[in-house]
Amino acid sequence: MATFEPSPRDSADIGVTGMAVMGSNLARNLARHGYKVAIHNRSVAKTEAVIAEHGSEGAFFPSESIADFVASLKAPRVAIIMVKAGGPTDAVIEELAEHMEPGDIIVDGGNALYTDTRRREAALKERGLNFVGMGVSGGEEGALNGPSIMPGGSPEAWERLSPILRDIAAKADEDGEPCTTYVGADGAGHFVKMVHNGIEYADMQVISEAYDMMSKALGMSAAEIGDRFAQWNEGDLESFLIDVTATVLKHVDARTGKPFVDIILDRAAQKGTGAWTVQTALDLGVPVTGIAEATFARFVSGDIAQREAAQKTLQAHTADEQITDPEQFIDDLQKALYASKLVAYAQGFEEIAKGAEVYGWDIDLGAMARIWRAGCIIRAKFLDRITEAYERDANLTLLLADPYFAEAINDCVPAWRRVVAFAAANGFPVPVFASSLSYYDAIRAERLPAALVQAQRDYFGAHTYQRVDAEGSYHVEWTRDRSETRTDGGEGGVTHGAVDPQAGEKMQEATTS
Ligand code: NAP
Repeated sequence: MATFEPSPRDSADIGVTGMAVMGSNLARNLARHGYKVAIHNRSVAKTEAVIAEHGSEGAFFPSESIADFVASLKAPRVAIIMVKAGGPTDAVIEELAEHMEPGDIIVDGGNALYTDTRRREAALKERGLNFVGMGVSGGEEGALNGPSIMPGGSPEAWERLSPILRDIAAKADEDGEPCTTYVGADGAGHFVKMVHNGIEYADMQVISEAYDMMSKALGMSAAEIGDRFAQWNEGDLESFLIDVTATVLKHVDARTGKPFVDIILDRAAQKGTGAWTVQTALDLGVPVTGIAEATFARFVSGDIAQREAAQKTLQAHTADEQITDPEQFIDDLQKALYASKLVAYAQGFEEIAKGAEVYGWDIDLGAMARIWRAGCIIRAKFLDRITEAYERDANLTLLLADPYFAEAINDCVPAWRRVVAFAAANGFPVPVFASSLSYYDAIRAERLPAALVQAQRDYFGAHTYQRVDAEGSYHVEWTRDRSETRTDGGEGGVTHGAVDPQAGEKMQEATTS
């Protein structure tokens, strides 16, 4: 087994442990920017491979043991962890912490759950160490050539890391600004990265819904659809994901000569960040309907047994309409896609705003959109519009209500409705188009059926309700005399309603729903 001579002590500017695809590319990115980079991996072969294949790109200081790795770093030390999230990250943090000294900085660049980051930050602070939970987006290409970087932790740690991260981050085309900024304390960086990934799920799904309709409803070939996406990439929809989609759809499988997309099994996998975004949104009470439907769509696609059972037994009852004006339909699809995308991004930003409020993070929402303009997977032209919206009003109640967004989405509504109606009538699944439209209609409705839900809750669980015409909380004695009582101790007597003679029979067991 090849071994390395221990690297000189106190010589590297920064270290990276975890030499799989992300860590090795990040280390190369640092080295290419002139930093002396200590590198380490649990199994030494990966470290050897980096030196053998890329050693000439810069100054690398390889180590076989964590002790040598830490010793090779200049104090105050900065070590970036790029290993599998979860238990492996905890194990590596523990090993590093044993060898580090107060004032040193451990950075976790993996996809950690923000609650884990909060726990780790608190534990390391007790030991005098700085811990930075750092979201990194852009995949392997981004890690090498410039990712979008979302660091959370103490402001002092950011001060030390800022020049390095600004060097290696992607630079926005518009103004050359590095796509990184201080996000907030403890788990804020990983929280924002989690929501970024959730938005990515929704964005990919709405693109796929538009593709599906062009393919099935219009019978267009993959290459023709790819051309449309390339065209859309010239306008408001311009983004990395639309560009990727155009390229993929025009790609031909070398083995069969068929469109590449047609030879792929239609089961979308996931690594869990979409589900985290949805679970967190449920905990925070934020309706991220687009992200949730996109995550569920992947589950639906993956359950082959259920899909086969459904295909054998469930009928379509479709209208079998023909599209008479394909160009109009394609324009409508473009608008349905844009509107659904606006909803998904807006909902994601509402989740970040709520997370910031609950966890006490001072997150600059406009800056988050700014650091997603390059390097990351959801980089898109319209992110500038989000930044501008938060610059107009940092405490925006609803991103969609900003004048730019309101005008943009209002312009799409008639087309969006036509697409969703056509899909429903003709049996095409469009979960994010449809749920986003329902969200749009719900959020703008003057009155919602939630009043009836409250009445039901009061009937079977005495959960009380509020009136439109008076202060306070009230409850009706549904199974007795239907008198209404004020329950919050305020003024207001008992009033009597008409009694339904069958009320007692209808009474359900009280539940806590
Ligand atoms: P990965 O496949 O997630 O993890 C492999 C790395 O983890 C290897 O270096 C492996 O070491 C190490 N490892 C696993 N268990 C370990 C343990 N118990 N102790 C020490 N090391 C352990 O690698 P990746 O795809 O490069 O991703 C690295 C991190 O970045 C992950 O958290 C990932 O979620 C995140 N991330 C990935 C992407 C992406 O596009 N891939 C994008 C953003 C963020 P051995 O070689 O010894 O097995």
